[in-house]
Amino acid sequence: MTIQQFIGQEIACPCGRVHRTDLISVEIGAGASDHIAQTLLRLGHSRVFWIADENTWPVLGKKAAEQMKEAGMYESGVILPAEVHADEDGIGRVLMHLDREADILLAIGSGTINDITKFVSWQLRLPYMVAATAPSMDGFASSVAAMTTNRMKTTYPAQIPEAFLADLDILSGAPMEMIAAGVGDILGKYSALCDWKIGAIITGEYYCESIVSLMREAVDKVVENIDGLRERKPEAFAGLTEALVLSGIAMGFAGNSRPASGSEHHLSHFWEMRFLFDGRKALLHGTKVGIGTVLSIRLAEKLLQTPVGFVKAAEKPYDAAAWEEQMKKCYGPAADSVIVLEAECGKNTPENHRRRLAVIREHWDEICAVLRESLPASQKVAEMLRELGGAVTPSDAGIEPQLVREAVLCAKEVRNRYTILQLLWDLGLLADFAAEISGKEAWDETI
Ligand SMILES: [Zn+2]
Ligand SMILES: [Zn+2]
Repeated sequence: MTIQQFIGQEIACPCGRVHRTDLISVEIGAGASDHIAQTLLRLGHSRVFWIADENTWPVLGKKAAEQMKEAGMYESGVILPAEVHADEDGIGRVLMHLDREADILLAIGSGTINDITKFVSWQLRLPYMVAATAPSMDGFASSVAAMTTNRMKTTYPAQIPEAFLADLDILSGAPMEMIAAGVGDILGKYSALCDWKIGAIITGEYYCESIVSLMREAVDKVVENIDGLRERKPEAFAGLTEALVLSGIAMGFAGNSRPASGSEHHLSHFWEMRFLFDGRKALLHGTKVGIGTVLSIRLAEKLLQTPVGFVKAAEKPYDAAAWEEQMKKCYGPAADSVIVLEAECGKNTPENHRRRLAVIREHWDEICAVLRESLPASQKVAEMLRELGGAVTPSDAGIEPQLVREAVLCAKEVRNRYTILQLLWDLGLLADFAAEISGKEAWDETI
């Protein structure tokens, strides 16, 4: 099914739920940016406040503003500095200029601009529209905004846009680093979907086959078009952009981010947080997710080659005080929230560990089959990222071995969500795997 077929539809799914999306208009195509004003008018808007930045203004903002003016609409907006963040400063800059009479906000951009507009429009109870400029991440159609407050990365409830528009002539001209990041975010669906399946087997959580096959199809289309992306063929960008939008729609269908985010995203969040604490320049979200995906698949490959001892795993002592110490060391100022989460969900308590181990033992063949069949070879994912000039190994992006080890050990604590990382912990293998995979030698054979 294509995105257009989901709009305005309610799908009664065999999973027992009715899936629907609040997106009203999606246009992805060459020349689509000629229709920005038209789309807004069609949706009943005539007074628009747009949000662009110094990079997106010349690429698309100026054209959009002129178009709206010509269409007789009232438009005003703000051009944010190129290095703006989705934080208090970014929000403040928008509010300083805001037109209180606007009936919709228009995001002219991708990552940060989308997050800022999503969040501000939600707070103002106004709808918003995205006119994308780069296929760099999959947060367009998600209902949450990734914001930084008090130098902490937090996910805030927000809303999906009313309309999404992407001109492939513009997206195909985006910096290759951003394109590789978008592909990284999409390749991350391999590990996310595998983690979801494993979680469903072990914890019995909700799982939907239809959503999974929908996402898989979208990922396959991106994989088939890697050459076209490298050659900047506009038609190759249709598949990537659709997959990025679909990922948000799929999260809406599932009611959580399971279809789009698993261990690879937890690893990425961990690195993002540590870079922020240390005052280091942030990496693109999809860049970290791409590296996290290769890492997560390598952990699965390693597990498939390791003999598993269920009795030994069950006897492994758990020291809550030592765990807390480790969280304080790895999470710094964010440790409290991780410790509170564990107190609430108790994923590491000996009872829950034993209960899960019994299920894992009973379904071990099935779990191994999922790992074997649903994941591509890590080498294959690495090659695709390399082809686009993207980062593959942690060191490509300046992530030191110590940060790799800590991420593998601690990233699972950031959410109560079952992934390969929790599976390795349950099997008593996580610490050894973390130590082995963080060494430089572990990455030597990756191209
Ligand atoms: Zn379903
Ligand atoms: Zn993502």
